[in-house]
Amino acid sequence: MPYYRQIAVLTLFFLILFIFIYPNQDSYIYPILKGVAIGGLVVIFISFAFPQVFKIGEIQTKDIEDSEIDLKEPPFSMTVKTQYKRLLLQILDLVGNVNAKFSAAIYMIDSENKGYTCQEKSYPDFSDFIETENEILAETVKKRKPSLFKKGNKNTGWDELLGSRTWRGSETIMGFPIFYEENIVGVLMVYMDHFSSILDRDQEIIERLSQFITNGMEDLEHMEALIIDNQFNLRLANLFDQLEVKSDESKLFESTRSVCRSFFQYDKLTIVLSSEDKEKGVIKLVDGLLDDADVGEEYKIQNSLHGKAIQDNTILCSNSWFDEYPDMGRFKSGDMNEYNFMSVLSIPLRSDGEAIGAITLERLSSKAYSDTDVRLLKLLSRKISTILNWHREYIKVHLTSIHDGLTGLLNHKAFLNRFEEEISRAGRFNQMFGLIILDLDKFKSINDSYGHLYGDYVLKGVAKIISDSVRTIDIVGRYGGEEFTVLLINSDIQHCIPVAERIVKSIAEKTFLKSGIAANITISGGMAGFPRHAEHVQDLIIKADKAMYETKSVGGNGVTITADA
Ligand code: GH3
Ligand code: MG
Ligand code: MG
Repeated sequence: MPYYRQIAVLTLFFLILFIFIYPNQDSYIYPILKGVAIGGLVVIFISFAFPQVFKIGEIQTKDIEDSEIDLKEPPFSMTVKTQYKRLLLQILDLVGNVNAKFSAAIYMIDSENKGYTCQEKSYPDFSDFIETENEILAETVKKRKPSLFKKGNKNTGWDELLGSRTWRGSETIMGFPIFYEENIVGVLMVYMDHFSSILDRDQEIIERLSQFITNGMEDLEHMEALIIDNQFNLRLANLFDQLEVKSDESKLFESTRSVCRSFFQYDKLTIVLSSEDKEKGVIKLVDGLLDDADVGEEYKIQNSLHGKAIQDNTILCSNSWFDEYPDMGRFKSGDMNEYNFMSVLSIPLRSDGEAIGAITLERLSSKAYSDTDVRLLKLLSRKISTILNWHREYIKVHLTSIHDGLTGLLNHKAFLNRFEEEISRAGRFNQMFGLIILDLDKFKSINDSYGHLYGDYVLKGVAKIISDSVRTIDIVGRYGGEEFTVLLINSDIQHCIPVAERIVKSIAEKTFLKSGIAANITISGGMAGFPRHAEHVQDLIIKADKAMYETKSVGGNGVTITADA
């Protein structure tokens, strides 16, 4: 199919050649051949000069799946493509955070080859290409909703997606459609060995991640529209390129400063973000004059020059703003008498169309800001807004993904990450810390006697007791179902004993009362200290775990420090 064009052009070439050497030009076939050749040339000319003329025809004959956007090669420039790739990698990273047992791949539609091409994957077994007919994929696309597929003894589509292997039957795939302008343009596939690994909220979080891809693509399309070949846009593109979705907000503002210095004339540059209730503005970046208001300061948005663009959600450009708004101050009423700023250009930063902050240039002179200044600052504010929105969305999803949905504690993977960080930090500063592993005693019988919901309530209560018993700098995780872990930062293991004993005692003393059911439970703890007992995560966990089982072996409801040196 892809060679149609080549075959047609070659046929035409030989036809013209044939016309030249045709022996009998008086024959009635000769004008027919000439007519066909001219017709062919006209078609080639039109398709070369006006390619869209034939495209329209193509779209009309395509079936529904084909008419969706081809994102095999996203229509982005290099800069935006790098950002797109980064976005996809972040998403895969977050899927791993949501549940360490999940691996994922992002497939985008490739209508030319009638299938979906893998753009990024966190598991090598995912195929690089899947055909549109693949049952798992087709079902997800047809339903237009997240769909769950258990391997069972069904064979359709599994080998094509993950390569042939010996299946156990418990494997599970979740497919999440990715939308773009309401069409499905891709699918986020999440694979796990066993369906029991899926927690209720996992699906919800990953669905949000697939929406994140959609929003990201829309933002990138805006970006693409802005990247024109002038220098300003090039600088903006570079600025965008250096920033990670997860990089700090302050980094974003800092990098804006140099762009502003090169392109605008001002005596003061200010970037502010508003509080959620739009009452206050917080200064995030200042360049130029600093004495009147500096980074970190807050002011009331109402009746302030620096709040006007936020409040009205429109651009403010004036070279004598105090004549237009005599009651207004710059940051607070009357402060314009101190510094006589005359010309101002203030443009809102937006999220979903709503103003969330402003970027403002001020001059002491009355020289007005030009149309070009307005245009360029608008581009800049749009770019900052996009990065800010991505960053905020990332933080939201990231926070949800590292915390356990039931207890709000760090989940298994996040706890281990923090544990690794703490080992390297404590190692650098020559500090000690203690690890406590806690496991509820005979918790299964609580579930069996009073039901799973009551069990959940007990788990929440226990998590709260543990968190309330330690300092805010300590790290608490839900390590497994009814297993909790605590890192007592910068503490000698001997000093950790009373903390662990307090936790055990508080739990034993608590009566868990809900819906007329009252129950008591105990917990067993095991401890190991860094660096006294071990210097690596796994060794510390093994030792504390062993100590915890020693507590259990003498009846539970207590703590033991590992005896292993
Ligand atoms: P042991 O004293 O030896 O620790 O006994 P146990 O019953 O506490 O330990 P076991 O490992 O046999 O059982 C743990 C139970 O915890 C089984 C499982 O159903 C329950 N569980 C794990 N996660 C959750 C959860 O999120 N909610 C509820 N309600 N129960 C859970
Ligand atoms: Mg257990
Ligand atoms: Mg237990």
